[in-house]
Amino acid sequence: MTEKLSAELLEIFDNVKRNYSEITENIYAAAEKSGRKPQDITFLAATKTVEPKIINYAVSLGLKYIGENKVQELLSKYDEYDLENCDLQFIGHLQTNKVKQLIGKVSMIQSVDSFKLAGEISKQSVKNGVTTDILLEVNIGREENKSGVLEEGLPELLEKCAALDNIRVRGLMTIPPICDNKTEICKFFDKMNKLFIDISAKTLDNVSMDFLSMGMSEDYQEAILSGANMVRVGSRLFGARIYR
Ligand SMILES: *Cc1c(COP(=O)(O)O)cnc(C)c1O
Repeated sequence: MTEKLSAELLEIFDNVKRNYSEITENIYAAAEKSGRKPQDITFLAATKTVEPKIINYAVSLGLKYIGENKVQELLSKYDEYDLENCDLQFIGHLQTNKVKQLIGKVSMIQSVDSFKLAGEISKQSVKNGVTTDILLEVNIGREENKSGVLEEGLPELLEKCAALDNIRVRGLMTIPPICDNKTEICKFFDKMNKLFIDISAKTLDNVSMDFLSMGMSEDYQEAILSGANMVRVGSRLFGARIYR
């Protein structure tokens, strides 16, 4: 590295390193406690507002999955990600008219909550000759003004998505309501796990229920204990977000 690292950046790296080992250790412990293997849990880092050099530092520590939640931000950072060593996904709310900018750049879109959106992902994937993995986002807390399909709408959405070309449904994702305590949030996680298990029992073409993506900085361990096999952790890894 020729660039001289500033003291500030070195301190950030130090913190990220410490946080990374702490989180991976916690993931390992929660996996074992829930009767699964540590390698069965995917640790995805939510990288919004984080500079590429810091993201890439985390990748150098072993981080394999990163997720952005804004199309514009992803595109502006795209050339700088170390994509030879990590897999880039999209985890935020997605407008149909922005889909074409993402296709071919991300391996998975975690936030599909309408047939319209899935249809556009399919159309753009066909156009580009790629297959895009998607997760269906569930509004498990039935919150107004929140993304995600309601649970009763999930079977129909799933069936319709399964019939689309060049997309593969790989599982479910959720962002539960903000809860005062862990017991309350676990009820939502358990509900999601039940949906996930029920759907996994059905066989549909182009659907393989591989991922249950839930749990963030404050609750990823609880989420794993409730069945999550992918957690999305941001601030616990990179520190509090600074919006510029
Ligand atoms: C930011 C973000 C996260 C991570 O949030 P933290 O609380 O910082 O861990 C997870 N999922 C999505 C969709 C996000 O946008």
